[in-house]
Amino acid sequence: MTSTAATVPSRVSTPERQAIIDLAAIGKNVAALRAIAAPARLMAVVKADAYGHGAVPVARAAVAAGAEWLGTAHISEALVLRRAGIDTPLLAWLHTPSSDFAAAVAHGIDIGCSGWELEYIAAAARAEERPARVHLKIDTGLGRNGCAMDRWDALVADAIAYQDQGLLRVVGVFSHLAVADEPDRPETDRQLQLFREAVAVAEDAGADLEVRHIANTPATLSRPDSHFDLVRVGLGIYGLSPFADQTSADLGLHPAMTLQTQLALCKDVPAGQGVSYGLNFITDRPTTLGLVPLGYADGIPRIATGGPVRINGVTYPVMGRIAMDQMVVDLGPDAGNRGADPGTAAVLFGNGADGGPTVDDWAAAAGTINYEVVTRISPRVPRTYVNGGSGSEPRPEGADA
Ligand SMILES: *Cc1c(COP(=O)(O)O)cnc(C)c1O
Repeated sequence: MTSTAATVPSRVSTPERQAIIDLAAIGKNVAALRAIAAPARLMAVVKADAYGHGAVPVARAAVAAGAEWLGTAHISEALVLRRAGIDTPLLAWLHTPSSDFAAAVAHGIDIGCSGWELEYIAAAARAEERPARVHLKIDTGLGRNGCAMDRWDALVADAIAYQDQGLLRVVGVFSHLAVADEPDRPETDRQLQLFREAVAVAEDAGADLEVRHIANTPATLSRPDSHFDLVRVGLGIYGLSPFADQTSADLGLHPAMTLQTQLALCKDVPAGQGVSYGLNFITDRPTTLGLVPLGYADGIPRIATGGPVRINGVTYPVMGRIAMDQMVVDLGPDAGNRGADPGTAAVLFGNGADGGPTVDDWAAAAGTINYEVVTRISPRVPRTYVNGGSGSEPRPEGADA
């Protein structure tokens, strides 16, 4: 009986795939953005699992770094934070009639209200025998959520009537900006003017507002006159830039997510070897192909052929189609002599400090924005947390609490 065991190296313990989340980077970004926003306070927006970074660990790191508020789109996302024991003021703003307003009231989650929700919120407050905390949302021009300008007086009056009955308190007025990432555009001025008018209507009607808020990341960075009492910052706390012409480094931000794997195969092929579905890439010389075990099931956009992969300090473009589970880079002849082997680390993006590829490079390759790249990294990629401060220990691979 022959045994191969003796010739098989012991299993390398590096995770096969991981998104490494640097919680210290999150903390630094929160601190930097708070300094910019002061005296306004900062809401860390942790919707969509904290843009793919992991809602609970990110929320904890952001609060530890001074974030006074947390924000999510859905009540269900806010409940995850409350159930994890996070008791920071928390706002959820996107609802349907199926949203669990009663749970929001019961868990002290502030509720954004654009109009129709008011009746549901009042009913939930009645059922829970506890007043709801409501932020009324005005549509100042984005054309998505929020109350239309010509309905605003009526919504405010209805909300104040419920407030007078003790069913709710109108604690905030807010809106959302459409073009703050393009600071030269004039529409932001118009939105801010309408917002001031909407706030005045609410205050004149008897709202005792704790917070007025309209700024997202780009407005926080470029429009001090948009800060009011509170800024709602998502992208910036993850260290990414909302501006086409400024990098994270330009803004003093630290990208928090590194996406890495290791080579699954290094294979010498002759000239004329077609690569991946469609055979869209054909080798033009004898070379070594490196197989990278990440694909669109992991959230790498299928369209992003040419996206960069860093291996042994060299950045290679993805050649041929990105498949569900894998993609291929052309390592050049004799790659093995230069130390590329199965197990060699392959980094798709990191903080860019070493000159390596960034989220922005992948966004460019995919024809999209950095927001989408990080948010879509799929659950098949375990998140690993590093540099957690007090109370947030580094978590093992796959931990999602
Ligand atoms: C997502 C979102 C934000 C955060 O936007 P960033 O550009 O990521 O800072 C703020 N407010 C609302 C209403 C949002 O939906």
